[in-house]
Amino acid sequence: MSHTHRGSCLCGQVRFEIIGDFERFYLCHCQRCRKGTGSAHAANLFAPNATVNWLSGEDHLRRYAVPDTRHTRCFCETCGAPVPRVQQDGTLVVVPAGSLDTPVAIRPDAHIFVAGRADWDHALEQVPQVDTVPKP
Ligand SMILES: [Zn+2]
Ligand SMILES: [Zn+2]
Repeated sequence: MSHTHRGSCLCGQVRFEIIGDFERFYLCHCQRCRKGTGSAHAANLFAPNATVNWLSGEDHLRRYAVPDTRHTRCFCETCGAPVPRVQQDGTLVVVPAGSLDTPVAIRPDAHIFVAGRADWDHALEQVPQVDTVPKP
């Protein structure tokens, strides 16, 4: 039996469920993913042959494809948050891990495209870790 995961965008208008299993979990450091997330890397779960059901806000979905590439983003038009996208003629669902509201049972498989990472993106595990914004 396939698992069901649920998620939503930042403003909450777009809500979805994924029916299927996550088989891969990659942290992609390529420049396109850095631009698309505004962060060090994307964190995407890959679910072959899964189904996406849009529970609300489907009319708020926007898609952007980088010209002459297979790189696409799907996001909420109101808040810009990334949401799942269907690729490869519907056979692969790519889910931004941060969009999920239900637990993810697998750990990332790999950092990928690390040659293209940001110049400040190294030894990040050695940076101090605090629970709030540090006092100046
Ligand atoms: Zn939104
Ligand atoms: Zn990437």
